[in-house]
Amino acid sequence: MTTDYDLIAIGGGSGGLAVCKRAAALGARVALVEAERLGGACVNVGCVPKKVMWNGAAVAQALSDAPDYGFTLGHASFDWPTLKRKRDAYVTRLNEIHEKNLTGAGVDLIRGHARFADSHTIEVKGKSYSANHIVIATGGRPLTPRIPGAELGITSDGFFELAQRPEKVAVIGGGYIGVEIAGVLNALGSQVTLLLRGEEPLGRFDPLIRETLKAQMVDDGIDLRPRTTLAKITPSESRGLSVVYADGTEPEQFDTLIWAIGRAPNSDTLNLEASGVLRDLEGFIPTDKYQNTNIPGIYAIGDITGRAALTPVAIAAGRRLAERLFGNQPDSHLDYANIPTVVFSHPAIGSIGLTEPEARLQYGDEVTSYQTRFTPMYHAITRHKTKTAMK
Ligand code: FAD
Repeated sequence: MTTDYDLIAIGGGSGGLAVCKRAAALGARVALVEAERLGGACVNVGCVPKKVMWNGAAVAQALSDAPDYGFTLGHASFDWPTLKRKRDAYVTRLNEIHEKNLTGAGVDLIRGHARFADSHTIEVKGKSYSANHIVIATGGRPLTPRIPGAELGITSDGFFELAQRPEKVAVIGGGYIGVEIAGVLNALGSQVTLLLRGEEPLGRFDPLIRETLKAQMVDDGIDLRPRTTLAKITPSESRGLSVVYADGTEPEQFDTLIWAIGRAPNSDTLNLEASGVLRDLEGFIPTDKYQNTNIPGIYAIGDITGRAALTPVAIAAGRRLAERLFGNQPDSHLDYANIPTVVFSHPAIGSIGLTEPEARLQYGDEVTSYQTRFTPMYHAITRHKTKTAMK
């Protein structure tokens, strides 16, 4: 069959960019379709702007510790719009660099929203493009709950659009995104309430991490509320909005409410029915270890697969797939076991492998756990302390 391309990737985020560049480097005829800004979630509304904000928070913490190290500072003030402007300019530079690198690698960039016409053809703005291999790398978007007034809140996407620092903010959700946003806002001077469904943040992490982080967040001044369910959000005259709790607790007013309750896959507007590709009940696209979907010649990588939603994972899966298809490496695939992960909390967390309960479930009495807790020497002479814990 004669096709326009050897490979087309739908989505120009971490996974799509990686698979296209590696495939082109291996001599394939490649196109990438992107509906919005190049770089996807990571560059535009994820890792990159998040780390800029985390670095800003680290500067704020260093300034607050400075007198303990003998520095006399003048009045330090913080201007959110300056940080936002510089952060946005950096993201724009990255968008441009990604486009330059992509086209420089010989990949055709097709701007627009792609949908399937059949298992080898997609349509973008009324034009058809065919390929022997089509990679779905469309990522996800933040979820909001179905409660009255939910639209009065914003998501992590909206967090990066905030023109000013909110004075009093509610962050809903104890996953890593909620924890990171709450920590950054707290360090930059907002009054932060973190509302959790469970007992502790980071429910899927080891108990040592959960307990240590919870204690540190409370110590740092975050108002952490376990086991909280929201009934509705209403506009408020005194502040932006009012949160009404399901258990009848007195409603509370906040300037800003940020939903961080999970992400939904971008699979619903792809016209997948035309391709025959199946989704699971939540809309994610399952694959085998080679990133194959149920339809030969159609693959899925990155967040859309519902597995380990991290940028390096999407990149590695994309590169391995390109090497398998065009690099004469028939067994090339990503090993999803033991993927290290970092949470940009305060302090930051690094983890890899099983949690202790998972290890005990799998290996029983053969498991020996070594752990330690201490106050790092940096904090020996500071008033504000941050604990370290290791397992
Ligand atoms: P994405 O990067 O989401 O890219 C998908 C692209 O597809 C988007 O550009 C979208 O516009 C496009 N698209 C969708 N549908 C179509 C269509 N039909 N046609 C054309 N284009 C389409 N990961 C880390 O490793 N470290 C971090 O510190 C980190 N921090 C994060 C912080 C936040 C707040 C968020 C939200 C995410 C963070 N992540 C982090 C996760 C990381 O951003 C994702 O795992 C990564 O971006 C996934 O890449 P992807 O290629 O699967 O999808």
